[in-house]
Amino acid sequence: MAIRAYGALAADKPLQAIDIERRAVGADDVQIAIAYCGVCHSDLHTARSEWAGTLYPCVPGHEIVGHVTAVGPAVTKFKVGDTVGVGCMVGSCLTCEACEEGLEQYCECGLIGTYNGETADAPGHTLGGYSEQIVVKDRFVLKITHDESQLAAVAPLLCAGITTYSPLRHWKVGPGKKVGVVGIGGLGHMGVKIAHAMGAKVVAFTTSESKRQAALDLGADEVVVSRNADEMAKHADSFDFILNTVAASHDLDPFMDLIKRDGAMCLVGVPEHKHPALNVAPMIFSRKTLAGSLIGGIPETQEMLDFCAEHGIVSDIETIKADDINEAYERMLKSDVKYRFVIDAATLAA
Ligand code: NAP
Ligand code: ZN
Repeated sequence: MAIRAYGALAADKPLQAIDIERRAVGADDVQIAIAYCGVCHSDLHTARSEWAGTLYPCVPGHEIVGHVTAVGPAVTKFKVGDTVGVGCMVGSCLTCEACEEGLEQYCECGLIGTYNGETADAPGHTLGGYSEQIVVKDRFVLKITHDESQLAAVAPLLCAGITTYSPLRHWKVGPGKKVGVVGIGGLGHMGVKIAHAMGAKVVAFTTSESKRQAALDLGADEVVVSRNADEMAKHADSFDFILNTVAASHDLDPFMDLIKRDGAMCLVGVPEHKHPALNVAPMIFSRKTLAGSLIGGIPETQEMLDFCAEHGIVSDIETIKADDINEAYERMLKSDVKYRFVIDAATLAA
């Protein structure tokens, strides 16, 4: 069935309205009418092939919320009318150790991304959520229990929410822990909200003076403008954990200097160009860890959605029309969004 989507035909072309096909509903498939789709910086990296290997046409979007319109005969967990979400993955091998542990994002055979992933469906690679409808295997569909009126603001939880929740849980963030969040964009603002709800003392690091008050409003206990060396120095050797969400190559040393013995900094940003090499001596002398983390598994994504519903957490969003997407990308590059653009899928219709 042909449906309307928004995608790029080449790395150097703006996104435009296109028609795409979705497969017929199979035995364990869930068909979803998309209501909203968040705009992640990964969408921009991919649409412009900044990570190389983008297949075109490229329809980005992996922060999908909507309503079930059909289910296959083997589906028991979902029914028509349910409010559901789809995040960054639509498949994995389901049999390797990682998949069996519910860590499908680390599938040893390679996860299938919601866009630019391998599929037998036309056109031979997956097409994401900047579209009216999607068909996804039930295992990769999430239940949403937030109030229906919050649906647009729930969309970013499907990537920005889980990508910050998972490392915060893994490194046992909670009461008594001092936690930094670097880069107060789509991911970072969720990191601040979630770390605060977990009971940690949260310090937000931003390059944008204009976000100083805004970060406090998100739940940060303190805000540091990271370009200011004096402000940074006050926090030397004091953090249990820092979550670094910055989307661009930058010097990691000033942040490693803020971590205390046995503390860790986890990188989740995937910049187009490498970070400069680290100064390792301070890491060695205080047994510090530098780590990375990829989204989160399906069971943990459901746990995160339920945690956010229970704590009244949603994303701070600016809803846009599909036609506004190219301008939204430019504004995202200038860190000019508080904090996530969300496409209203009703504006996709021809
Ligand atoms: P975003 O909304 O653009 O936020 C990134 C933030 O980084 C900006 O708001 C800005 O915050 C800061 N920043 C940008 N350029 C900077 C620079 N040159 N130096 C220092 N800080 C800078 O992006 P996002 O959607 O949150 O995504 C962030 C990164 O995570 C992207 O690379 C994305 O691809 C990646 N990602 C990874 C995963 C994963 O599983 N690991 C999942 C999703 C996304 P301030 O204005 O506060 O400085
Ligand atoms: Zn994302």
